[in-house]
Amino acid sequence: MKQYDYIISGAGLAGLSLLMRFINNPAFNTKSILVVDKAPKNENDHTWCFWERQPGLFEPLVHHRWQQAHFFSSHFSSLLNLAPYEYKMIRSIDLYDYVQLEAQKHSNISFVYGNVEATGNAGNKGLVVVDGTRYTADYVFNSVLFIKSQSPANVHYLLQHFMGFFIETKESLFNPAEATLMDFRVAQNNGTTFAYVLPFTSTKALVEYTLFSKQLLTDNEYATALKNYIFNILGIKEYSMLEQEFGVIPMTNMKFVKRVGRVINIGTAGGQTKGSSGYTFQFIQKHSDKIVADLLQYGYLKENEPFFDKRFNFYDSTLLNILSGNKLPGDKIFSDLFNKNPTERVLRFLDNETTLEDEINLVATLPQGVFIKAAFQEMFK
Ligand SMILES: Cc1cc2nc3c(=O)[nH]c(=O)nc-3n(C[C@H](O)[C@H](O)[C@H](O)COP(=O)(O)OP(=O)(O)OC[C@H]3O[C@@H](n4cnc5c(N)ncnc54)[C@H](O)[C@@H]3O)c2cc1C
Repeated sequence: MKQYDYIISGAGLAGLSLLMRFINNPAFNTKSILVVDKAPKNENDHTWCFWERQPGLFEPLVHHRWQQAHFFSSHFSSLLNLAPYEYKMIRSIDLYDYVQLEAQKHSNISFVYGNVEATGNAGNKGLVVVDGTRYTADYVFNSVLFIKSQSPANVHYLLQHFMGFFIETKESLFNPAEATLMDFRVAQNNGTTFAYVLPFTSTKALVEYTLFSKQLLTDNEYATALKNYIFNILGIKEYSMLEQEFGVIPMTNMKFVKRVGRVINIGTAGGQTKGSSGYTFQFIQKHSDKIVADLLQYGYLKENEPFFDKRFNFYDSTLLNILSGNKLPGDKIFSDLFNKNPTERVLRFLDNETTLEDEINLVATLPQGVFIKAAFQEMFK
């Protein structure tokens, strides 16, 4: 049995975000760290967007940033000023390359490639089984999601699914200073549906078609909807396609197991995806910071999230109750939020960083009857 101080099981966004912090902090230079994934990460399989006030850990990797973003719907349209935030985009391949290259400079970090079959505990150690070989460590940080989409009764389980085209036009048709955060001027027949546009230059952009619903569409349905959006709403008649992206993110109030003894679940597997929005990037960064801070301060990981912070799970459940029960259309909810609140407050709310006073103000801008009823249903479940 091979033994380490820490094992990072799954070297995607969460695993590599944590590894980067271990690399950056000299206190971890003496720790033996094993990183496990199926294979080296060498594909650009995600485009991560998030808003941030200050430069973050991966600031040098930001591919493009926007200070302004459009919101469009039949209820409300505006060019939102995102200050004090910037909306940033990172290509996953840049992050994989950067962290893997840094890791190679550290002899205390090693990689193993294979299938993680199980994680568990062996005595007072965490255990990872990779292709039949057992590895143990003081802590295992696991982002391998073993149980996909299992949804017990009583929980809401929507999927955020999207297809994106990276397109290039001959003429200058985009303004690279203005993103489109949400464009609801598309049919809402299949659930909450919107497009977004991330222009990198005047001729290149990523255009995504996104739904919050229980069922996936066929590839053809996403592609047709995207082409229609580009043609009819953006008014772009000619373009070439550079790349495509497809993704599915769980939107659920299901309780993810955060920890079993010495196995700490991180990333989506550890419940770091916000149930009502699918945003995960910044939650992973904050969770990684917390893990490192705990290890530095106490030498071990503290167990619980503060009780008061759990209210955000309740807000997520309430919103999911409304969306999955089709009690209000999503475009109306997001329109009210952005129309009747400062953008900064909405973004802070979506980051679980508002105060109770902010939250009272926010809720007051939403259709009261529906929200109060859904909140009661979630409270007394
Ligand atoms: C296409 C896409 C775009 C997204 N865009 C955004 C965005 O813009 N903003 C945002 O906030 N969130 C976004 N998300 C959500 C979230 O940020 C990502 O899913 C993010 O990658 C989650 O990080 P993670 O480490 O939990 O999972 P992953 O990054 O998927 O990492 C898990 C790792 O585990 C490995 N693995 C899995 N099973 C095994 C196994 N059995 N054995 C060995 N290794 C295994 C995988 O190879 C992978 O490297 C997006 C999600 C997708 C799918």
